[in-house]
Amino acid sequence: MKHGHETASRGVALLHDPLHNKGTAFTEVERDALGLRGLLPPHVHTQEEQMARFLENMRGLADPLEKFVALNSLHDRNEALFFRVVCDHVDEIMPLIYTPTVGLACQRFGHIFQRPRGMFISINDRGRIADILRNWPGKAGIIVVTDGERILGLGDQGANGMGIPVGKLSLYTACAGVDPAICLPVTLDMGTNNETLLNDPYYVGLRRRRVTGPAYDELIDEFITAARHVFPDVIIQFEDFANHNAFRLLERYRHKICTFNDDIQGTASVALAGVLSALRVKGTSLADEKFLFLGAGEAATGIADLIVAAMVAEGVDVMEARKHCWLVDSKGLVVKSREGLASQKLPYAHDHPPVSDFLSALKALKPTGIIGVAAVGGTFTPEVLRAMADGNERPIVFALSNPTSKSECTAEQAYEGTDGRALFASGSPFLPLQYQGKTMVPRQGNNSYIFPGVGLGAIACGATRITDEMFLAAANTLASLVTPADLDQGSLFPPLSNTREVSARIAVAVAEVAFERGLAAKSRPEDMLTLVKAHVYDPRYPVVHS
Ligand code: NAD
Repeated sequence: MKHGHETASRGVALLHDPLHNKGTAFTEVERDALGLRGLLPPHVHTQEEQMARFLENMRGLADPLEKFVALNSLHDRNEALFFRVVCDHVDEIMPLIYTPTVGLACQRFGHIFQRPRGMFISINDRGRIADILRNWPGKAGIIVVTDGERILGLGDQGANGMGIPVGKLSLYTACAGVDPAICLPVTLDMGTNNETLLNDPYYVGLRRRRVTGPAYDELIDEFITAARHVFPDVIIQFEDFANHNAFRLLERYRHKICTFNDDIQGTASVALAGVLSALRVKGTSLADEKFLFLGAGEAATGIADLIVAAMVAEGVDVMEARKHCWLVDSKGLVVKSREGLASQKLPYAHDHPPVSDFLSALKALKPTGIIGVAAVGGTFTPEVLRAMADGNERPIVFALSNPTSKSECTAEQAYEGTDGRALFASGSPFLPLQYQGKTMVPRQGNNSYIFPGVGLGAIACGATRITDEMFLAAANTLASLVTPADLDQGSLFPPLSNTREVSARIAVAVAEVAFERGLAAKSRPEDMLTLVKAHVYDPRYPVVHS
């Protein structure tokens, strides 16, 4: 699928239409045919020249937030060029349009605001959400929706959380080639309890505290119903909801509509893929491992659940499989005797005396892997890493919390603390580094390996549901694309620059599951990869013949 969807716009309107604008790259023929003569300087540039010009300007900016603003403005002017820049420079641009910079962009959202993107629906819009959605000019194939209550590890950012759905949808296009014309970012403004925002004159959201209880649920329900009514085949991805809502909303809707929660299921899939790569290095299987999680929220229980599902698929009994995962939350080790545990933690509340802190739990349980997802920076201390190194030849150390300031440890700390033996993955990016003369290339357990391919696969086959089995298939596919050379340099994931190929493979695996389980609205094609690739958007301008 080429850039250049059918457009009726001409002249100035075309130059202001980011989905179709090519700026100075409009050819002589197009300038005449589309009423652009005189509205552009005479020289016709290639997309490559436009890209080089943009990168030169962007790289001259000192501050990541300024680069974010520059990229955002490009996105608002010329989507094809924006996605060309992102696709051709994924390693450089992804940390600017997503973690870690997007976290800062959300915190500063009102201050750097230039043009709205996506749709803002507030608690004041009850009763008219379908009408509001009809204001969206195109059709929507994928909605990423947030209520802004748990943005990355940064907590409640209210309506400023819009940076996340916008960023995630950019990754759908950049990493998998989902057509930007069908991507709709949505923020549900339920109020905010963030005092700083409530007192900030530039805050973009409602000046009120968060609504809770039935009024909250009714708004969500009206939104879901309206979205399905206005855009019948839409996939709805929940994003960065606080965990008291995330689990129950997922449970409420996952069996009724085509939906998933990336913080729970996408995270689980990428983390499991990293674990599977680590096991290849160790020559072990999941049943040989014991994982201790720091954190017991969406990411932790999502990952634990998928590890268990993977073990069950290998023939291990579910009750036995759960004993391989242990959780530590803000109150200490999750154990059976603790009262009032949230339902998602219960499968991991094992028989054990109470333990109040992570290091003591680690010493008591002697895990083979630690997975940090508590959004508390620096918690994999030298003592923690030493204990892992003492107990394991190749300790698995995943510091997944975002943004970088919340990371449990840096890559360098992980290697130094374990004599270079850690099998390390992180949530935020760390640069390659030298450890005792060897170049280590730690890679990010980035959800963007998974969700774009899952979405693309679901679109390609017309999936009616998105299931855990699909995320398991995605994890296995991602892990299978890690080469021995990757493993040798400490990389548990393929390079991010391969992301389009990775996403296409994941899309095929997801579509296979959908067809297998009768969850595909379309008929099964001869060749799944061809079907998937037919849905891939190409940001290069089409060649125009005179
Ligand atoms: P969450 O709010 O659902 O869970 C946080 C958990 O941490 C809770 O169980 C809480 O009790 C626990 N916690 C808080 N303080 C603690 C402390 N001092 N000691 C022990 N536990 C503590 O959040 P989440 O969605 O699970 O996300 C957690 C972190 O993981 C965030 O930083 C997020 O950005 C990151 N994350 C990374 C990836 C990735 O790398 N691919 C994906 C998803 C989430």
